[in-house]
Amino acid sequence: MPHATDATGVTGIHGTTDSGGSAAPESPPASASIDLDELWGRVQAAVQKMVRREQFETWFRRASLTHIDDESVSLTVQNGFARDWLKTYYEEILERALESVLGSPYRIVFEVDAELTVPQRRAEEPDNGHDASPTPSVAATPSTADRADRDGGASALLHSSDVVLNAQYTFDNFVVGPCNRFAHAACVGVAESPGKVYNPLFIHGRVGLGKTHLLQSLCHTILQRNARSRILYLSCETFVNHFISALENGDLQKFRGKYRNVDLLVVDDIHVLANKERTQEEFFHTFNTLYNAGHQIVLSSDSPPVDIPTLQERLISRFKWGLVTEVENPCYETRMAILKRKSRTRGRQLPEDVARLLAERIDTNIRELEGAVTKLLGFASLTNRPITVELAQECLREHFPRQKREPAMEDIVQVVTQRFGVKLSELQSKRRNNAIAFPRQIAMYLARRITRMSLEEIGGYFGGRDHSTVLHAVKKLTRLVEEDPQTRQVLVELNLELQSPSGA
Ligand code: ADP
Ligand code: MG
Repeated sequence: MPHATDATGVTGIHGTTDSGGSAAPESPPASASIDLDELWGRVQAAVQKMVRREQFETWFRRASLTHIDDESVSLTVQNGFARDWLKTYYEEILERALESVLGSPYRIVFEVDAELTVPQRRAEEPDNGHDASPTPSVAATPSTADRADRDGGASALLHSSDVVLNAQYTFDNFVVGPCNRFAHAACVGVAESPGKVYNPLFIHGRVGLGKTHLLQSLCHTILQRNARSRILYLSCETFVNHFISALENGDLQKFRGKYRNVDLLVVDDIHVLANKERTQEEFFHTFNTLYNAGHQIVLSSDSPPVDIPTLQERLISRFKWGLVTEVENPCYETRMAILKRKSRTRGRQLPEDVARLLAERIDTNIRELEGAVTKLLGFASLTNRPITVELAQECLREHFPRQKREPAMEDIVQVVTQRFGVKLSELQSKRRNNAIAFPRQIAMYLARRITRMSLEEIGGYFGGRDHSTVLHAVKKLTRLVEEDPQTRQVLVELNLELQSPSGA
């Protein structure tokens, strides 16, 4: 099996340095037992869900996870500038991504290594657990040349595009339902005869509903039909940035030449034009030139043209010249179909009851649905446990509807004291008999898993105990969850209580 089987890795607590007389066989140090590239690939995938594509490409693609231990990971980048930028602007996102993959908070140590070579893998590609080694054939820097190579030379986006087409984002991989049928059909139509049927094509909808997937499917299809098609695919942010630097450098002619000399211009997230008057003006001219030449324009946005703040009337009316269509929230059946498709792509089958649970709980965002599948399959594979409703409930807490507030220490204490018939004062006391110590350890374990409290804070809460006492409790419970069905059951039930809408 490619994954480290250290089940505790999932809770973020590696039992690997715990040699304190435990009967369990001692594992090698965490960094050695875990495939860091594979782990980083999954963290990157989680990051990608939280940042824009170009942000990801700029800051995360070329970083590398170089070390992990009980509480921290080392993230290595090639220069001090990237390190400072990541630390200043993305530390929290990285922490969240790490936690979503590892199951508990980790501290991040940022390091610089000018010699760093990054084994390039496509983080957006689902990890199906078949191959723990990084994709070998792709060079370290996603330069334009790499792009062309990767896609077989001519059949790539124009070099000035700011993304590499995701090989997974094809019409074949897109599940069609009532929510997206029309948008899908429009994209297929445009892919078949660009510039002819709907121009411009304007797809809007909330985040995570498949707009980018559709846009990229369209590009794939056009390139399959004609590898020489000149497609410029940009996020709106890039358009804005290029425009601003062209203005600053007095390069407008070159800028215009680049944007206007294409067969298909795709601008993802065009709502970013909101409140940017000069750029709107420029985009208006770009639009006219392309449109008049019969070239296709495809746009996506989080809202319909008329709802984009301060969007000029003349742009609104032009965006409506072609087809404006919405992707809506997926219905239950579509969610089920997507869940099954996504797990099948990853080489696993979701049991019906697990798929139903996820489809019921995650009802508005396909990206989250997909993230849940990835996490669940990863969790099952890492812990070597079958995919069950219990496992899903255990590992997908944060994917459940957000209206429930995160359980706090007080909630944990309440369910634990109720369950074991002990008092908070007893949990906080120095007493060490098992009737008190065991519930205390359970509470510590839950606190570590559920809250963002540090080991020190948890120790402090339970009568000023040392962080190593908390760590010991967490490790012990992590092991028991694996080995002892009764303890596992207790924890599943406590977790459920903590997640019930009425709170603990
Ligand atoms: P948006 O651009 O609307 O924010 P994305 O296109 O990035 O959303 O979609 C988010 C994730 O959900 C992607 O991984 C995409 O493949 C997946 N996805 C969205 N809609 C579908 C669908 N109908 N079928 C399969 N996967 C989908
Ligand atoms: Mg998108």
